[in-house]
Amino acid sequence: MTEERNDHDVIVVGAGFAGLYQLIRLRQAGYEVRVLEAGGDVGGTWYWNRYPGARCDVESIEYSYSFDRTLEQEWNWTERYASQPEILDYIRHVADRYDLRRDITFGTRVEAMRWDDAAERWTVRTDDGRSRTARFVIAATGCLSVPSRPAFAGMADFAGELYWTSNWPHDGVDLTGKRVAVVGTGSSGLQTITAIAPDVGSLTVFQRTPSYAVPAHNGPIAARLDEVKPGYPEFREESRLSRLGFHCGEDETGYYAETPAAGVRRELDRRWSDGGLCFTLSFRDVLFDADANEALAEYVRERIRAKVNDPGTAEKLTPRTYPIAAKRMCVDTGYFEVFNRDNVSLVDLGEEPIERFTERGIVAGDAERAFDVIILATGFDAMTGALTAMDIRGTGGALTEKWAAGPRTYLGLMTAGFPNLFMITGPQSPSVLSNMMTSIEYHVDWVTTALEHLRASGRHRMEPDIEAEDNWVNTTNDVGELTLMPRAASWYTGANIPGKQRVFMPFVGGVGTYKQIGDGVAVAGYHGFELT
Ligand SMILES: Cc1cc2nc3c(=O)[nH]c(=O)nc-3n(C[C@H](O)[C@H](O)[C@H](O)COP(=O)(O)OP(=O)(O)OC[C@H]3O[C@@H](n4cnc5c(N)ncnc54)[C@H](O)[C@@H]3O)c2cc1C
Repeated sequence: MTEERNDHDVIVVGAGFAGLYQLIRLRQAGYEVRVLEAGGDVGGTWYWNRYPGARCDVESIEYSYSFDRTLEQEWNWTERYASQPEILDYIRHVADRYDLRRDITFGTRVEAMRWDDAAERWTVRTDDGRSRTARFVIAATGCLSVPSRPAFAGMADFAGELYWTSNWPHDGVDLTGKRVAVVGTGSSGLQTITAIAPDVGSLTVFQRTPSYAVPAHNGPIAARLDEVKPGYPEFREESRLSRLGFHCGEDETGYYAETPAAGVRRELDRRWSDGGLCFTLSFRDVLFDADANEALAEYVRERIRAKVNDPGTAEKLTPRTYPIAAKRMCVDTGYFEVFNRDNVSLVDLGEEPIERFTERGIVAGDAERAFDVIILATGFDAMTGALTAMDIRGTGGALTEKWAAGPRTYLGLMTAGFPNLFMITGPQSPSVLSNMMTSIEYHVDWVTTALEHLRASGRHRMEPDIEAEDNWVNTTNDVGELTLMPRAASWYTGANIPGKQRVFMPFVGGVGTYKQIGDGVAVAGYHGFELT
C-alpha cells in the first residue's frame, strides 16, 4: 500500500452529500483531493442519525443528486419520503459508483487549520496528530452535524441505557416492552416517538416547546417517478429557480386575496391534503404578515385538537408562542395520534421542568419517573457549530473570535481573513431553509467553477473583501428582519445553544433569488472577491 501523501491541491472536510459531490467535481476538474471524515463511512447526516423512524421531509424525488442524469433515471425511491436506511444505501451506491472511498480518510476529525500566508497554503491538523497541507480547504462539514448535548444534572448517575438520536448505535436498539423516555419534540423527536410508540412498554415524552407539524402522507411513489423521470432535468431546473429548492406549486396568492374565510379554508385544506412542507407556502405572505401566519397556525392547532382525544394533552401539544414556520416545521406520520395510546404520556417541561437525572430515571416537577431507556432528541448547534468546533486561524486571527457576535460571510461561501477556505451551505446562504440537495449542488458547482477560474487565470488566492461581506451580512439580516422568523427562539437563531449569539443565520430570500445573485457575482469576475 502506498503511503498517503501530506500535501494536497484541495482538502475537503466531511463526506456527506456535500463532500462527496465536491470530491466528484474536483476530480473531474483534475484536482488532487483528500477528504477527511470523522465518521466511519460516507453519509454524514444519514450515517449518524439512525434513530427509529428517521426519514427525509423533502420528497426523495427532489432530495437526491441531480448532477448525474443516468443515476437519477436508474435509482428508484420506494417511498415519497425515503427512510434513513434507503438514503444511506443511495449515498453508498454513489460512493461505489464513483469509487470515492479511495480519496477519503475515515475516522479522522479535523481539529485545527492554520493559514500560512507566505506559503499561501492551509495546514490542517487532525485528531490522529497528523498534519496535511493544501492550497484550498472546503468545509463540507454540514449545518446539522454537531449535536447539542444539554448537560442535565446527574446524567452520569442514570443506570439504564441512554441514547442520542444524532448518534444512534449502528446495530439498532431493542426497545420492546421497555419503559422509554424521549426528551425533545423537534423533527427527530417526533419521528422517533411515532416509530417506537407501538413497541415500547411505556413512552414518556418530555416536551419543552410543541411543534407545528403537517402530515407527510407518505407512501409508495412508483407512479410519481414514472411521471417525473421523462422530464427530470427540466424538473430539477425548476427546483433550482424556486423559493425552497423544491416544487411547491408557487402560484400561491396572497392571504388577503383569499379572504373571506372560505377561500382561505379551501387553500389550507388543499395544501393539508397534499401534505408536506409546502403547506407553509399556502399564501405568499405567511412569513411576512402576522394575520396570514396566524390563520395557518390556527388551522394546524384545530387539526391537533381533532387528532388528540384528551383535551388537556391536546392543549399541551398545541404551539402558541411563536409564528408557524419560524421554527423548522415538522412533517409527521401519525405523531399526534400517538398520544391517544394508553402507553404514552406527555410531560410539559414548562410546568414540570427537568430537575435532574437519577439512577432510576428523571426527576421533573415533583415526580421521579423510572425508565429503562432515555432517548435524547435535543437537536444541533446549527449552521456554525461544525465550523467553530475547529480551531481555524486565518490572516487576522481565529474564526471563533471573528464570529463571536454571529457569523459573517459573503454569500455563505467564504469569510474575509480566511483565504482559500470555502464553506458548502455556510451561514447566510439558503441552506437549512431549502432542499439542501439543491443548495449543496449549487455551492459545490460554484466553488468548483471559482477554482477553475483561478487556475485558468494563473491565480491561486481568493477571499471576500470586507465591504462585500459587510453588505451581504446586512442584506441577510435585513431580509430576515422583514419576516416573522427571528421572532421564534429557534436553532435558526442559535437560541437552543446556551451562550450562542442570537443572530438569524440563513438567507431567507429564496433559492432562486440567491442563485441569481451568486451567478451574477461569478459572471462579473467574482465581484466582491479579491483574486490574487
Ligand atoms: C435527521 C435529519 C433529517 C434531515 N432531513 C432533511 C431533509 O429531508 N431535507 C433536507 O433538505 N435536509 C435535511 N436534513 C439536513 C441534512 O443535514 C442535509 O440535507 C444534508 O444531509 C447535509 O449534507 P452535508 O454533506 O452538507 O452535511 P452532513 O451530512 O452533516 O455531513 C457533514 C460531515 O462532515 C463531518 N464533519 C464535520 N466536522 C468535521 C471535522 N471537524 N472533521 C471531520 N469531519 C467532520 C461529519 O462527521 C459529517 O459526516 C436533515 C438533517 C437531519 C439531522
